[in-house]
Amino acid sequence: MATQLFINGEFVDPLQGQTIDVINPADETVFAQIAAATAEDADLAVQAARRSFDSGVWRNKSAQERGAVLRKVTELIMANIDAIAELEVKDNGKPLPEARWDIEDAAFCFTYYAGLAEQMAAAPDEEIDVGEPRFHSKVVRDPLGVVAAIVPWNFPLLMAVWKVAPALAAGCSIVLKPSELCSLSCVELAKIIHQAGVPDGVFNLLTGYGPDAGAPLSEHPLVDKVAFTGSVPTGSRIMQAAAKDVRTVSLELGGKSPFIIFDDCDIEKAVEWIMFGIFWNQGQVCSATSRVLVHEEIFESLVVRLCIEAEKITIGNGLDDGVLLGPLVSEGQYRKVLGFIEGAAAEGIEPVFGGERPAGMETGYFLEPTIFADVPTDATIWKEEIFGPVVCVNKFSSEEEAVRLANDSEFGLGGAVMSDDLARCDRVARALRSGIIWVNCSQPTFTQAPWGGYKKSGIGRELGRWGLENYFEVKQITSFDKDGHWGWYIK
Ligand code: NAD
Repeated sequence: MATQLFINGEFVDPLQGQTIDVINPADETVFAQIAAATAEDADLAVQAARRSFDSGVWRNKSAQERGAVLRKVTELIMANIDAIAELEVKDNGKPLPEARWDIEDAAFCFTYYAGLAEQMAAAPDEEIDVGEPRFHSKVVRDPLGVVAAIVPWNFPLLMAVWKVAPALAAGCSIVLKPSELCSLSCVELAKIIHQAGVPDGVFNLLTGYGPDAGAPLSEHPLVDKVAFTGSVPTGSRIMQAAAKDVRTVSLELGGKSPFIIFDDCDIEKAVEWIMFGIFWNQGQVCSATSRVLVHEEIFESLVVRLCIEAEKITIGNGLDDGVLLGPLVSEGQYRKVLGFIEGAAAEGIEPVFGGERPAGMETGYFLEPTIFADVPTDATIWKEEIFGPVVCVNKFSSEEEAVRLANDSEFGLGGAVMSDDLARCDRVARALRSGIIWVNCSQPTFTQAPWGGYKKSGIGRELGRWGLENYFEVKQITSFDKDGHWGWYIK
């Protein structure tokens, strides 16, 4: 039986009764079906969210009352982690330890935002000195309203929770639209949120295709904000739709992040972090450090070592022990990534390692870890987001050249630098035009620290206090001295 939509506190079938097959990317079998929502369902979900917001049933609770419910969500996610993690692996392909890691992070996110919202509510209102003694001005925060959250498939539960947890903590009502490729963990989240006691209509789930369910949601006049994570073209469409009704948007988009490796670092550590930076989650990571710049002194030895280590990676079904590289998420994504490799070949660029379906693995969307070296900087694979386990490694000769090459991108999400000279690391980190810079590592992500991109990688920041502020309107309340005299018209 197909999963259902969750609207106004009830699990319901989509009005047109359509479903989407869910394919396990490790064996290409259909193992479930999800509901395919259309514009009419999106309308019902937004209406429910609007009614719940306007009624005050959630936003008028205290931060502590909301916090207690959100901590219950954390507990219920952790109580079900085995089942949710297994579902995530079957749906997305990622190795089980990674899925467990994502789900623990997602569970923590609810508790974190519960605490942060409580702290914010407990803090005294910010007083503003307006420079006129008869006026008293202060700032208060209001939950922003109805949020449409549209998310991708690479971290299906976690990307949703980065929006759902702060939005609920702030007192907003929300309609979540996960990717049609990976929705199952979000269906589990809907059950948990319901069980934890979030009032009817405050959280709603629409599964379905982007154009059928996501577009009507992002265009709905009763939505106050669209919080989107996904590709640049879809982000741009969402922004255009938002412009029409002057709706707030936050966009977490793609990347082509650089990793600069200087010649004074330990090559083994460099290889380990390069691999984590691009092969983790099959390279389907927005912040993946997919462009590696290595100092010319160590370039040859590092590339050799990288190939040796890449060959040792166990590829297979994410549920099997010891697997570090699962299948890509879908046939479409698999063809897209292979297309980049074939395109490179057509430009005369061949990988120094990988680039093929692993020998003996006839089914599943598996691809060898793939390494290109000495790639021309105008090549498509150097410039565009591939979103697969494909890394391009180039050399540089000076710090200035490394920074210039690193910043020569239309994206600006992540970046990394490795050197034993920490002053140099700090200098380079500050010079990179990206929102997240790792020093002597790549990818570890913390709920407490801001996340988001420069340039085409997005608008706004998630996580940390920035992630919570996304879901408030800022209101000034300015009072005039009740005994004062204004004296403009009436002297
Ligand atoms: P996508 O843009 O194809 O889809 C994202 C979501 O938008 C899905 O739920 C999809 O159904 C929906 N959608 C598609 N068309 C739509 C439309 N016209 N209107 C409204 N919604 C629509 O992206 P994807 O392939 O699912 O995800 C991969 C992309 O996400 C990559 O570019 C990656 O870099 C990016 N990403 C960014 C971050 C970040 O934090 N910056 C995190 C994860 C992924």
